[in-house]
Amino acid sequence: MGKKVLIVGGVAGGASTAARLRRLDEEAEIIMFERGEYISFANCGLPYYIGGAIKERDKLLVQTPEAMKARFNIDVRINSDVVRVDTDNKLVYINSKDKGEYTEVYDYLVLSPGARPFIPEIPGYNEDRVFTLRNIPDTDRIKEFIDEKKPSSALVIGGGFIGIEMAENLTEKGIKVTIAEAAPHIMAPFDGDMIAIGEKELEDNGINLVLNNGINHFEQKENGLVTVLENGDKITSDFAVMAIGVKPDTEFLKGSKIELGAKGHIKVNENLQTSLQNVFAAGDAVEVLDYINGQISYVPLAGPANKMGRIIADNISGIKGAYKGTLGTSIIKMFNMTGAAVGNNERTLKRLSIPYKVIYAHPASHATYYPGGDPLSLKLIFNMEGDILGAQIFGYTGVDKRIDGIATVMRLKGKVSDLTELELAYAPPFSSAKDPVNMAGYIAENVITGKNDVITYEDIANRDREKTVLLDVRTKIEVDNGYIDGAVNIDVNELRDKLSELDKDKEYLVYCKVGLRGYIATRILLQNGFKAKNLTGGYETYKAAAFTPKGIKNDKNFTKQIKSGETQIKFDKELDAEGLCCPGPLLQTNLNISEMKLGEVLKVNATDPGFYEDIKSWCKNTGNDLINVSKGGPKITAYIKKDEKKENEAAAASALDNKTIVVFSGDLDKAIAAFIIANGASSMNKKVTMFFTFWGLNILRKDEKINVKKGFMDKMFGSMMPRGSRKLKLSNMNMMGMGSKMIRKVMKDKNITSLEELIKSAIDGGINIVACQMSMDVMGIKKEELIDGVKIGGVGYYLGEAEESNVNLFI
Ligand code: FAD
Repeated sequence: MGKKVLIVGGVAGGASTAARLRRLDEEAEIIMFERGEYISFANCGLPYYIGGAIKERDKLLVQTPEAMKARFNIDVRINSDVVRVDTDNKLVYINSKDKGEYTEVYDYLVLSPGARPFIPEIPGYNEDRVFTLRNIPDTDRIKEFIDEKKPSSALVIGGGFIGIEMAENLTEKGIKVTIAEAAPHIMAPFDGDMIAIGEKELEDNGINLVLNNGINHFEQKENGLVTVLENGDKITSDFAVMAIGVKPDTEFLKGSKIELGAKGHIKVNENLQTSLQNVFAAGDAVEVLDYINGQISYVPLAGPANKMGRIIADNISGIKGAYKGTLGTSIIKMFNMTGAAVGNNERTLKRLSIPYKVIYAHPASHATYYPGGDPLSLKLIFNMEGDILGAQIFGYTGVDKRIDGIATVMRLKGKVSDLTELELAYAPPFSSAKDPVNMAGYIAENVITGKNDVITYEDIANRDREKTVLLDVRTKIEVDNGYIDGAVNIDVNELRDKLSELDKDKEYLVYCKVGLRGYIATRILLQNGFKAKNLTGGYETYKAAAFTPKGIKNDKNFTKQIKSGETQIKFDKELDAEGLCCPGPLLQTNLNISEMKLGEVLKVNATDPGFYEDIKSWCKNTGNDLINVSKGGPKITAYIKKDEKKENEAAAASALDNKTIVVFSGDLDKAIAAFIIANGASSMNKKVTMFFTFWGLNILRKDEKINVKKGFMDKMFGSMMPRGSRKLKLSNMNMMGMGSKMIRKVMKDKNITSLEELIKSAIDGGINIVACQMSMDVMGIKKEELIDGVKIGGVGYYLGEAEESNVNLFI
């Protein structure tokens, strides 16, 4: 008899160890314990079985104990919970459904117990209506509930991989889904700017997305569930799926002398050996090293678990194998869209103070002249030494192969220059002669070599308006459909002729739709002696990053979104704008509509993702009637009725429909009134500008003390004035601050939004919050002391906005 190997856990890591071990060692005695009834099942397929994409339950069962015995001669013991490990005597204690309690000795012990859903203690937790998803019995419970109770609404708590997959699959079943996520964004591997693309896709497919709002408690309701969020909002649903993360299933190792980390994960070395020589561990339950930054990390993914199983089998059989760390390469389907990420995101790099640069690109998935190409949104993170630190991609087609290409280069410690040199398979239906991966490499290389100094969308808000000019080099039709506030427009094709109008003392922050024309314009400017930087990712990234979900919408009669753009609308002319990138579809629409008669309908087929929103604002701006616009995967279909009369009305109405408010006062009650009016007007789709001057500036000050260089008088003045909205006094009955406290309490009790929330919603809602430059100078307030999202402007700016307004208040 050979060595005796006991394996705890019979799915990814465990089953993979067992099978490889047998292939290497016919003599070994291998016993695999599994707590549940099933081994080697397809965890990753569970949500898709619930949703119906995987039709047969049997397909989830990749292996059975009998098949493992027949092919690999493995003694599989299901319904066998390993409850204790005595490493001194090399003994495990098993609690078996059939055999009761017993022990087994081992020469080698392999631990792959995985991770279980994390369920915090939440008041009102009701097991009958709150489900978790880890294994086949969990799946059966959810499926049974849906089949029997025919629920119409569900709450998914947590926006990680499992949460999002469940949300999509429940939607596919015709259930109205709300996702509640405590963090500012779902899907932690992505940065906010990239996942915003996915969040919009979820919303476009009918999912309510609630961000930055964890759950506080559940309330009982007959035949349903009321979930109360941290901010007091309530969500009513027929059931909930709790998916807020996992924790290692290592309770049974307590007292075993096997070293565990701070969060209960098993500590292993490169050979996946635990702190004890003949005990190995794999999968979700172990600490891994991050391949990029070398820090301890936890990456519960199937790929690493399976690979670790194989390495352990090798090591037990005398073949030296090492696990060198995890890149965290991951991918998710969100309806028709795909998101994928590898390596570190900006959040991680910032936390570890690792320097990095970022570029964005929006190339097409394949040659634009071949039908069906869709744009990709690609973010590459790298350093000035050319190391690739991370990448994130969103798109409809070809996301997987791009992320895998980059992951491969990263795994082999390749550089940005290697991305440019990769020779990738190309024919028009599949790619372009310069693949998106090559393009990302070129753009990053231009940054490293100084040919293209870039700024990111985040730099725009913080730009110095005195010393810089924001230059939009897109066509007029694109600009009419939306632009970054404060930009001047010169089409890139006219830039050379207009250089004499530009000021060499200013720095030009250039942007176009995706960054390409911006790069060309930047090169023109630089070579003509101007200072210029290009907004990487262009307006597309700027706009995508600004997406904020609408929150909870209770559609009583929710039916799943239309799969494709099919409707029965009659049309007079059809325009094929598929494969065209912006402004192509808009230009073509414009041209076609101009050639049509009043009342005629144009059907437009497009694939540029921006077209879905663009066509709405184009119709609004031009007064044409948007009968319907729908999205089916990458395909967007719009029906537009030519309407000239409304065109004039729209122009007239939009010209004088803005609202301006001068906020002069720093009194709490007046500040509240100003923001209530502003938010109200904004919710009616009016453009609102709030111009803060003199005492009003105090409303915009940050709460904390900001260290900025100031003269004596400025310092004195600053310390005497209230620092931020929380310190404001009432204009009447202030009673040494008691009045302010009372009014805040009354507002809270009556569920009225606080001043701070009103300010946030004004900023998030796109209201122009402008601090008067002259008043700031007079009062010695510096830009750094003001809250984020505030613009600095002069009287000219205010007057310009007031010109286009039909309401102008002085508060
Ligand atoms: P598991 O595969 O979870 O196996 C551990 C097994 O050990 C369990 O069956 C458990 O019952 C058993 N066990 C635990 N303790 C004991 C004990 N004391 N005695 C006996 N038996 C015990 N990853 C991806 O990469 N891509 C995906 O798309 C993906 N989708 C997923 C979808 C879902 C719904 C879930 C739940 C996971 C998904 N994962 C995905 C994660 C992936 O399944 C895990 O990373 C992987 O299965 C981990 O392997 P493991 O061997 O560590 O643990």
